[in-house]
Amino acid sequence: MNRAQAIAALLEQPTLWDVLVIGGGATGLGVAVDAAARGLKTALVEQSDFAKGTSSRSTKLIHGGFRYLKQGNVALVRESLHERGLLLRNAPHLVHPLNFVVPCYQWWEAPYYGAGLKLYDWFAGRLGLEPSRHLSRADVLEALPNATSANLRGGIRYQDGQFDDARLAIALAQTATDLGASVANYVRVVSLLKKDGRVCGVRVCEAESGKEFPLHTGVVINATGVFTDAVRRMDEATAPPVIAASQGAHLVLPRGFLGGDTALMVPRTDDGRVLFVIPWHDRVLLGTTDTPVSETPLEPRPLAEEVGFLIGQAAKYLAKAPAKNDILSVTAGLRPLVKLPGAKSTAALPRDHVVLVSGGGLVSVAGGKWTTYRKMAADAVDKAMEVAGLPEKPCATEHLRLADTRRRSSQSAAETLQIIGGTEPRSRRLHPDLPLTADDVLHAASHEMARTVEDVLSRRSRSLLLDARAAMEAAPSVAALLTKGFGRGPVWEAEQVAVFRELAKGYLPP
Ligand SMILES: Cc1cc2nc3c(=O)[nH]c(=O)nc-3n(C[C@H](O)[C@H](O)[C@H](O)COP(=O)(O)OP(=O)(O)OC[C@H]3O[C@@H](n4cnc5c(N)ncnc54)[C@H](O)[C@@H]3O)c2cc1C
Repeated sequence: MNRAQAIAALLEQPTLWDVLVIGGGATGLGVAVDAAARGLKTALVEQSDFAKGTSSRSTKLIHGGFRYLKQGNVALVRESLHERGLLLRNAPHLVHPLNFVVPCYQWWEAPYYGAGLKLYDWFAGRLGLEPSRHLSRADVLEALPNATSANLRGGIRYQDGQFDDARLAIALAQTATDLGASVANYVRVVSLLKKDGRVCGVRVCEAESGKEFPLHTGVVINATGVFTDAVRRMDEATAPPVIAASQGAHLVLPRGFLGGDTALMVPRTDDGRVLFVIPWHDRVLLGTTDTPVSETPLEPRPLAEEVGFLIGQAAKYLAKAPAKNDILSVTAGLRPLVKLPGAKSTAALPRDHVVLVSGGGLVSVAGGKWTTYRKMAADAVDKAMEVAGLPEKPCATEHLRLADTRRRSSQSAAETLQIIGGTEPRSRRLHPDLPLTADDVLHAASHEMARTVEDVLSRRSRSLLLDARAAMEAAPSVAALLTKGFGRGPVWEAEQVAVFRELAKGYLPP
């Protein structure tokens, strides 16, 4: 992916687009892949970095959602399990099966959850993973050596999918680009263009130059997550809100807190949620919470109560309870839930998606989950083609393999050597506690549209999540490489380090 080329395509061909997508998270990137795969001339603009919003802050599971089964939302579970199966086929380099164990401490838990998970297996049909099965107490402790053993009776083992959300976003951006779409980060939609009351394009601002320009298109698809209502109001000032944002926090802990390679799942915490303790990138990811919020900043902050709740729940299920100073990082994300009249709490709101068309023909797609991004995209593009009066073309993503962004070109290696002077090994780690190398940084900048220290440390690599303090220490090395690579000066370099360190403070426990 080359950002300069994508921006040039936007600037030079402002009247060519069939479909213009606003938002570079799971939903928007999925829409761009779908539209491009149908042969539509597609552009996507993201105001910040790809997956900067909710899509880099998930629990990183490609799953049916056992808790939706408890809520009786069978259609969503079936659809999600089908999508899980497709993703495991289409992106085996990005999504893998993970073993989960539900430890059972009460007599009724094993038969109750065991039956639920048998249904879960059944709904997955021919795309199912390994079937669930009952475990003895000894088997549970072998899989989860650090689970609380007092009163443990046994457990259930099942499988679901795991992935790295920000990396899948880059793979989608690359896939869309390979299919001919022009996809650019740091380009914000500031207003919609209209002709005779119909939306016919957008006015965008390119963040680095501050330059504004128009883009004309057959149809605009709004895929902006928790910002959906703000963009809908660019079309219809009085559009009633459809999004209820709910914050979810995660803690990252050293791997030792879990012990093995199996994840622990608690189907019902004190607030009625599911708790996950998951091995992820040689760390443990612990989450999540469900806190209704009225503000939707791009950089939400975890609350002290959320951290306290997660530590308290972990103490019930882990033999060695984590303390605040064990936490390597804390993140928060905002679920863009679709509001139904009369729903009591955000935990009770369904994770289904909706496609809406507002007065001027703006198509908005919202809700859903990472797992269902492909189906959301297919539904949104079907509707957009109808709105734009484009000839029918069927969705072509069901068997579409996603790009493998791990492949390094020889050009990348040569550029790297040139920039870092040819003497240091490219594979040298930039920090002893992080897997990040100089080559990773330069590859992210030259092939994955990373523009800032934050893009590299937070989303191209997951350094900020893996260890916020180590990421702060690595920031000057990353800034120095980017400064050389982009031909920037010392003022930019110092500013990048300062901005990143300020941001990273928000990933230390409050
Ligand atoms: C705590 C938590 C855990 C979750 N765990 C899971 C999980 O394990 N599995 C799962 O399947 N799902 C999970 N989800 C749900 C999933 O993460 C979301 O449904 C999904 O990421 C939403 O993607 P999106 O593209 O709709 O929104 P976003 O990722 O927020 O993307 C919207 C984008 O629009 C951009 N934008 C806004 N306004 C403009 C503008 N004017 N111009 C240009 N761009 C603009 C924003 O910058 C943003 O990047 C979880 C969610 C949360 C919060």
